[in-house]
Amino acid sequence: MNFEIISPATTKDLLNAVKKQQRRKFRFGAGCTDLLLELKKNPVEDLLIINLSQVKDNEFSGIKRLAKGIRIGARVTAHQLVMSEEIKNRFPVLHESALNLASTQIRQVATVGGNLCTASPSGDIACALMALEAECELLSVSGKKRMIPVRDFFTGVRQTVLKRNELLYGIFVPNPEKQTKKVFSQFIKIGTRKSMECSVVSLAYHIQTDEQGTVTRSGIAIGASAPTIRFAESACDFLDDKNIYEISDTQKKEFAENILSYASPITDMRATAWYRKEVLFNISKAIFDNIEK
Ligand SMILES: Cc1cc2nc3c(=O)[nH]c(=O)nc-3n(C[C@H](O)[C@H](O)[C@H](O)COP(=O)(O)OP(=O)(O)OC[C@H]3O[C@@H](n4cnc5c(N)ncnc54)[C@H](O)[C@@H]3O)c2cc1C
Repeated sequence: MNFEIISPATTKDLLNAVKKQQRRKFRFGAGCTDLLLELKKNPVEDLLIINLSQVKDNEFSGIKRLAKGIRIGARVTAHQLVMSEEIKNRFPVLHESALNLASTQIRQVATVGGNLCTASPSGDIACALMALEAECELLSVSGKKRMIPVRDFFTGVRQTVLKRNELLYGIFVPNPEKQTKKVFSQFIKIGTRKSMECSVVSLAYHIQTDEQGTVTRSGIAIGASAPTIRFAESACDFLDDKNIYEISDTQKKEFAENILSYASPITDMRATAWYRKEVLFNISKAIFDNIEK
């Protein structure tokens, strides 16, 4: 396999490079932890890799607090997410998804944008962002931006809505609702081992309540359970206005069944479809057992 690499130094150079290469086979490379494995498996001749890692642009590589939420540049690494106190305190589900990704070394280079754009059904950061009802900021070569909810970003296994002349520039994570006083937020990852392993099943939840425990808003997403990560809308609706401390055993089961209705897992070398469903059902039911007043 032969490929060429170019490394734009600014966002303007990057957009110009993408514009110029519209007729050629090209791929973006950020941390390249997914890309290199993919190219090893499916080599492409005469490929151009547009290296994103040298672009000097804080909007692309930094985390910034905004009035209505937090903006994460697409090139922010898993390590940056882990180190951000703001993310740890306000969005635990996102912090935990990054903390458990691969290994210390991989987290230094693996990016948020790469995790989303690779569109793997088991992308951990992508799953957490979907539970947070985050939005993707896409930037086209003309400099035009468009926003799209993470839950509408994936169109199939390893497929996204990104057009050929677009890249993922940032992600916006909204603040909690005004009436929210408590947040129950966790990333549950089931794998065959603790590190260096993609999820066999994952569940991300971010549940907001008022002082008394009444649910004001919730976001729940499942990973490695369907061709894409999925937002479990009916499970969120089920929780609306319920008191999180008073969920009965029957309700826990009903809630878990709602989540399971979004799962259509496959059997592969990591686990069988049956196992994935059983685990998903049990971890969904168990959410409420970990919730303390
Ligand atoms: C040993 C190992 C263990 C792993 N463990 C985990 C794990 O536990 N959990 C997990 O979720 N993942 C895991 N991964 C997968 C991978 O590390 C992550 O998905 C990572 O976040 C990808 O980021 P990257 O910057 O390396 O992406 P890259 O490999 O650079 O890119 C991935 C894809 O996204 C595209 N892309 C990248 N950035 C952009 C952008 N800004 N705009 C448009 N397209 C873009 C690329 O063209 C490519 O198609 C693992 C990988 C390895 C090798």
